[in-house]
Amino acid sequence: MNLILLGPPGAGKGTQAKRLVNCVGLVQLSTGDMLRAAVANGSAVGLDAKVAMDRGALVDDSIVVAIIEERIDEPDCRNGFILDGFPRTEAQAEALDKMLSNKNLKLDKVIEIRTDDAVLTERITGRFACADCGEGYHDQFRQPLVKNVCDSCGGHNFSRRNDDNAETVRARLSAYHSQTAPLLPYYRQQGVLGEVDGMLGVDEVTDQITKIINGS
Ligand code: AMP
Repeated sequence: MNLILLGPPGAGKGTQAKRLVNCVGLVQLSTGDMLRAAVANGSAVGLDAKVAMDRGALVDDSIVVAIIEERIDEPDCRNGFILDGFPRTEAQAEALDKMLSNKNLKLDKVIEIRTDDAVLTERITGRFACADCGEGYHDQFRQPLVKNVCDSCGGHNFSRRNDDNAETVRARLSAYHSQTAPLLPYYRQQGVLGEVDGMLGVDEVTDQITKIINGS
């Protein structure tokens, strides 16, 4: 099964993708994570991407399409994948359709995680993660059970994303509304779009997504 999670920054795409990896055995493909890894490695792709990422703008379609195309050829994607943060423009969606049809693959579901913009800035600016295992936390909504100790791996190092500040979040939301939201009618027309209420608790959102995946 191949899925897309679609929604604005802070909607919970990454959180839900990680949960689906655990319960349905799909691979999470996050272009944001891949680009951050490229930036951290200082690769040519990373250097190109960094300027746009720091501004909260989208990275060039050609860069992200190439990254995804290479990644979905890897053996761990054979059982299916969850695209988290891709596609984000109509050009990317069209490139994805082409690439899937060339590989005899299909898109099973696109799940829109609906949220109110008003909550997103608070959700994003408060978030941090374990630098060792990536487990996600939040200043207000989810602190580690023991202060400064990761619940998941016991690590003591935590990090925040450079682009999780109020100014960049405004630019990222604006990019979502102008460039990514137009994909909703595109996928509705293809008959693959499902919607979940991203304002619900994390477990309830996972339940709604699971129901859509199971066709109930
Ligand atoms: P994310 O981790 O999904 O919030 O992405 C962080 C940043 O990476 C975005 O603000 C963009 O600058 C860049 N990015 C991630 N995915 C894409 C994509 N599919 N197309 C263009 N830029 C992207």
